[in-house]
Amino acid sequence: MALVNEHFLKLPGSYLFSDIAKKINTFKITHPQKEIIRLGIGDVTRPLPPACIEAMHKAVEELAAASTFHGYGPEQGYDFLREAIIKKDYATRGITLAVNEVFVNDGAKSDTGNIGDILRHDNSVGVTDPIYPVYIDSNVMSGRSGVLDPNTGKWSNITYMPCTSENNFIPEIPKKRIDIVYLCYPNNPTGTTLTKAELKKWVDYALANDTLILFDAAYEAYIQEPDVPHSIYEIKGAKRCAIEFRSFSKTAGFTGVRCGYTVVPKELTAATLTGERVSLNALWNRRQCTKFNGASYITQRAAEAIYSPEGQQQIQETIDYYMTNARIMREGLEEAGLEVYGGVNAPYIWVKTPNNTPSWRFFEQMLYEANVVGTPGVGFGPSGEGYIRLTAFGERANCIEAMQRIKNWL
Ligand code: PLP
Repeated sequence: MALVNEHFLKLPGSYLFSDIAKKINTFKITHPQKEIIRLGIGDVTRPLPPACIEAMHKAVEELAAASTFHGYGPEQGYDFLREAIIKKDYATRGITLAVNEVFVNDGAKSDTGNIGDILRHDNSVGVTDPIYPVYIDSNVMSGRSGVLDPNTGKWSNITYMPCTSENNFIPEIPKKRIDIVYLCYPNNPTGTTLTKAELKKWVDYALANDTLILFDAAYEAYIQEPDVPHSIYEIKGAKRCAIEFRSFSKTAGFTGVRCGYTVVPKELTAATLTGERVSLNALWNRRQCTKFNGASYITQRAAEAIYSPEGQQQIQETIDYYMTNARIMREGLEEAGLEVYGGVNAPYIWVKTPNNTPSWRFFEQMLYEANVVGTPGVGFGPSGEGYIRLTAFGERANCIEAMQRIKNWL
């Protein structure tokens, strides 16, 4: 008899975005003449940069000839891409990395979800709250989370660090030791960031407590302000305590192409039960070689093209487009009298619902009365209650129209 991994059964039945889809479908059936504007999804709408398209075409041609054909590539990624990443994303910020500290993947979801493979099931885990749900759900699947309290929406073995308007979305450094802490900056869903000084407190905490930081910088390309770190390795000592995840999804419209990378520094170690220190780089390499066969050659050539001068200029235009949307949305929502956060260094806008209206109720009101869709904040964790997330990834005209509708509504 095959037994299931019963930890999966602890996961709440339906997923946030399918609940939202159901509510939208009901609305559409009952209001077929209404046109809704979706500002809820985290997917991009602008096409791929032409430099990437050109690189992909070229790569396809290479695969068409026996002399330039590529079969299995290195599990860790091709050196041409790993070298471009190091040169353009890290050396420019004074960070030195070796090629074998960079692992190319098929997007940050895979690695942020899978990294737990190399960590024991009984590590304690801390997350900022609200949070990208993959961090918690993947820990539930591996048995690290304990049990869910249906009243609080919290898992018993996970430490939640609230990020709300009361603390300016800056998580308090925990008073106790936590083995693994997930940080995501710029943050999904709140769109907020930490300054260098604030992130340094986390690195200092991690070094003092032997904590592993899992730092998700999927939205790094959206940072506009100078005092916001693009990489955790800008902070001294972070290579000894942090793994960093990056993604080309939001940087260059790769949500459908699928490519990202993970940095696991060679100086980073964790302990065995007997106290021996083990290289996480070596373990992750072993894990990847067993379970992953690399991102496709075509994809990696496309990712490399992001770093060409044309690619850099093209992604900048797209990022500017989304960030202009974010500005228009922030201004529109503020004019409508709402309290608005994020949207300055991130394409996410985190809106406080008026009069402490619960997230789901506000979601439905906005859907039915303004015909605009957001994502209920509580779907990202208990501290998201009383907020709604809007994304700036839509079409410009839709963003403008949605703001007008919200202003007329409120
Ligand atoms: N990390 C965060 C914080 C995200 O918001 C997302 C996607 O929305 C991801 C990771 C996953 O991105 P990818 O498309 O690279 O898998």
